[in-house]
Amino acid sequence: SGRLEEKKTLITAAGQGIGRASALAYANEGARVLATDINPESLASLKEESPEIETCLLDITDPQAITNLAKEIGTLDVLFNCAGFVHHGTLLECEESDWEFTFDLNVRSMYRMIRAFLPAMLETGGGSIINMASVASNVRGVPNRFVYGASKAAVIGLTKSVAADFVKQGIRCNAICPGTVRTDLSEHRIDTYAAERGKPKEEVLEDYLLEKEPYHQPMSRFISIEEIAAAAVYLCSSAGAAMRGAAFTVDGGWTAR
Ligand code: NAD
Repeated sequence: SGRLEEKKTLITAAGQGIGRASALAYANEGARVLATDINPESLASLKEESPEIETCLLDITDPQAITNLAKEIGTLDVLFNCAGFVHHGTLLECEESDWEFTFDLNVRSMYRMIRAFLPAMLETGGGSIINMASVASNVRGVPNRFVYGASKAAVIGLTKSVAADFVKQGIRCNAICPGTVRTDLSEHRIDTYAAERGKPKEEVLEDYLLEKEPYHQPMSRFISIEEIAAAAVYLCSSAGAAMRGAAFTVDGGWTAR
């Protein structure tokens, strides 16, 4: 028996990266998992890897799709809002459309998801909501992460507000703030970096680990998707019941100094 035995869980952006690792970890802990994503191929491959996981297409920028899904599946014990997008650049490189796209995907979607699923959680006596933030936010200012950092700081504010408003009604709402996790997203970031500097990728990777670059990892390796999934398990397990409105940092020592 697992730590999430029979818990009904939903994860957004569960097709790949941290969301996928979390879906697998939740299933491994005995949870009933509904893995959602905008990408049907990655959902199909997840289903193949772990047939007990239910999958469902969900574009979290589509309010009607969210409302329909909430009506269809009713109450949840755990809602993990994992989806997020990284825009690269400073304020001067952020167009109105970049701002809108980022805030819609990274923040507004969480407001919509929680608004759709919270009422049933309240009716059944509680639930756990986990929102994906980042160290790049109000935890730490990171170069070239202007609108991303602003949006992830908003996620922390949104999280604390929901936690404070519903703490007496059995609702737990926490944010996870990872450092650099090795996924397609960070892979893309490293490629961009290498291209900008005209350096081979291997050299840029070394710079990361040798602390020459702003996204360096002091523990000399990247964080794994499984390490973030473990935090996502803890936050919604009974062991994490006292975590309320936390910005839970898992960053390999990035902000330790
Ligand atoms: P990833 O890029 O590997 O995966 C992103 C997933 O989001 C994809 O499966 C994609 O299909 C899905 N997606 C995109 N648009 C969507 C939409 N409109 N609706 C539903 N799904 C959509 O991502 P990752 O690196 O695992 O990151 C996941 C989360 O963790 C993000 O919120 C990210 O900001 C955050 N994060 C990542 C890192 C890191 O280093 N990778 C660090 C801190 C925070």
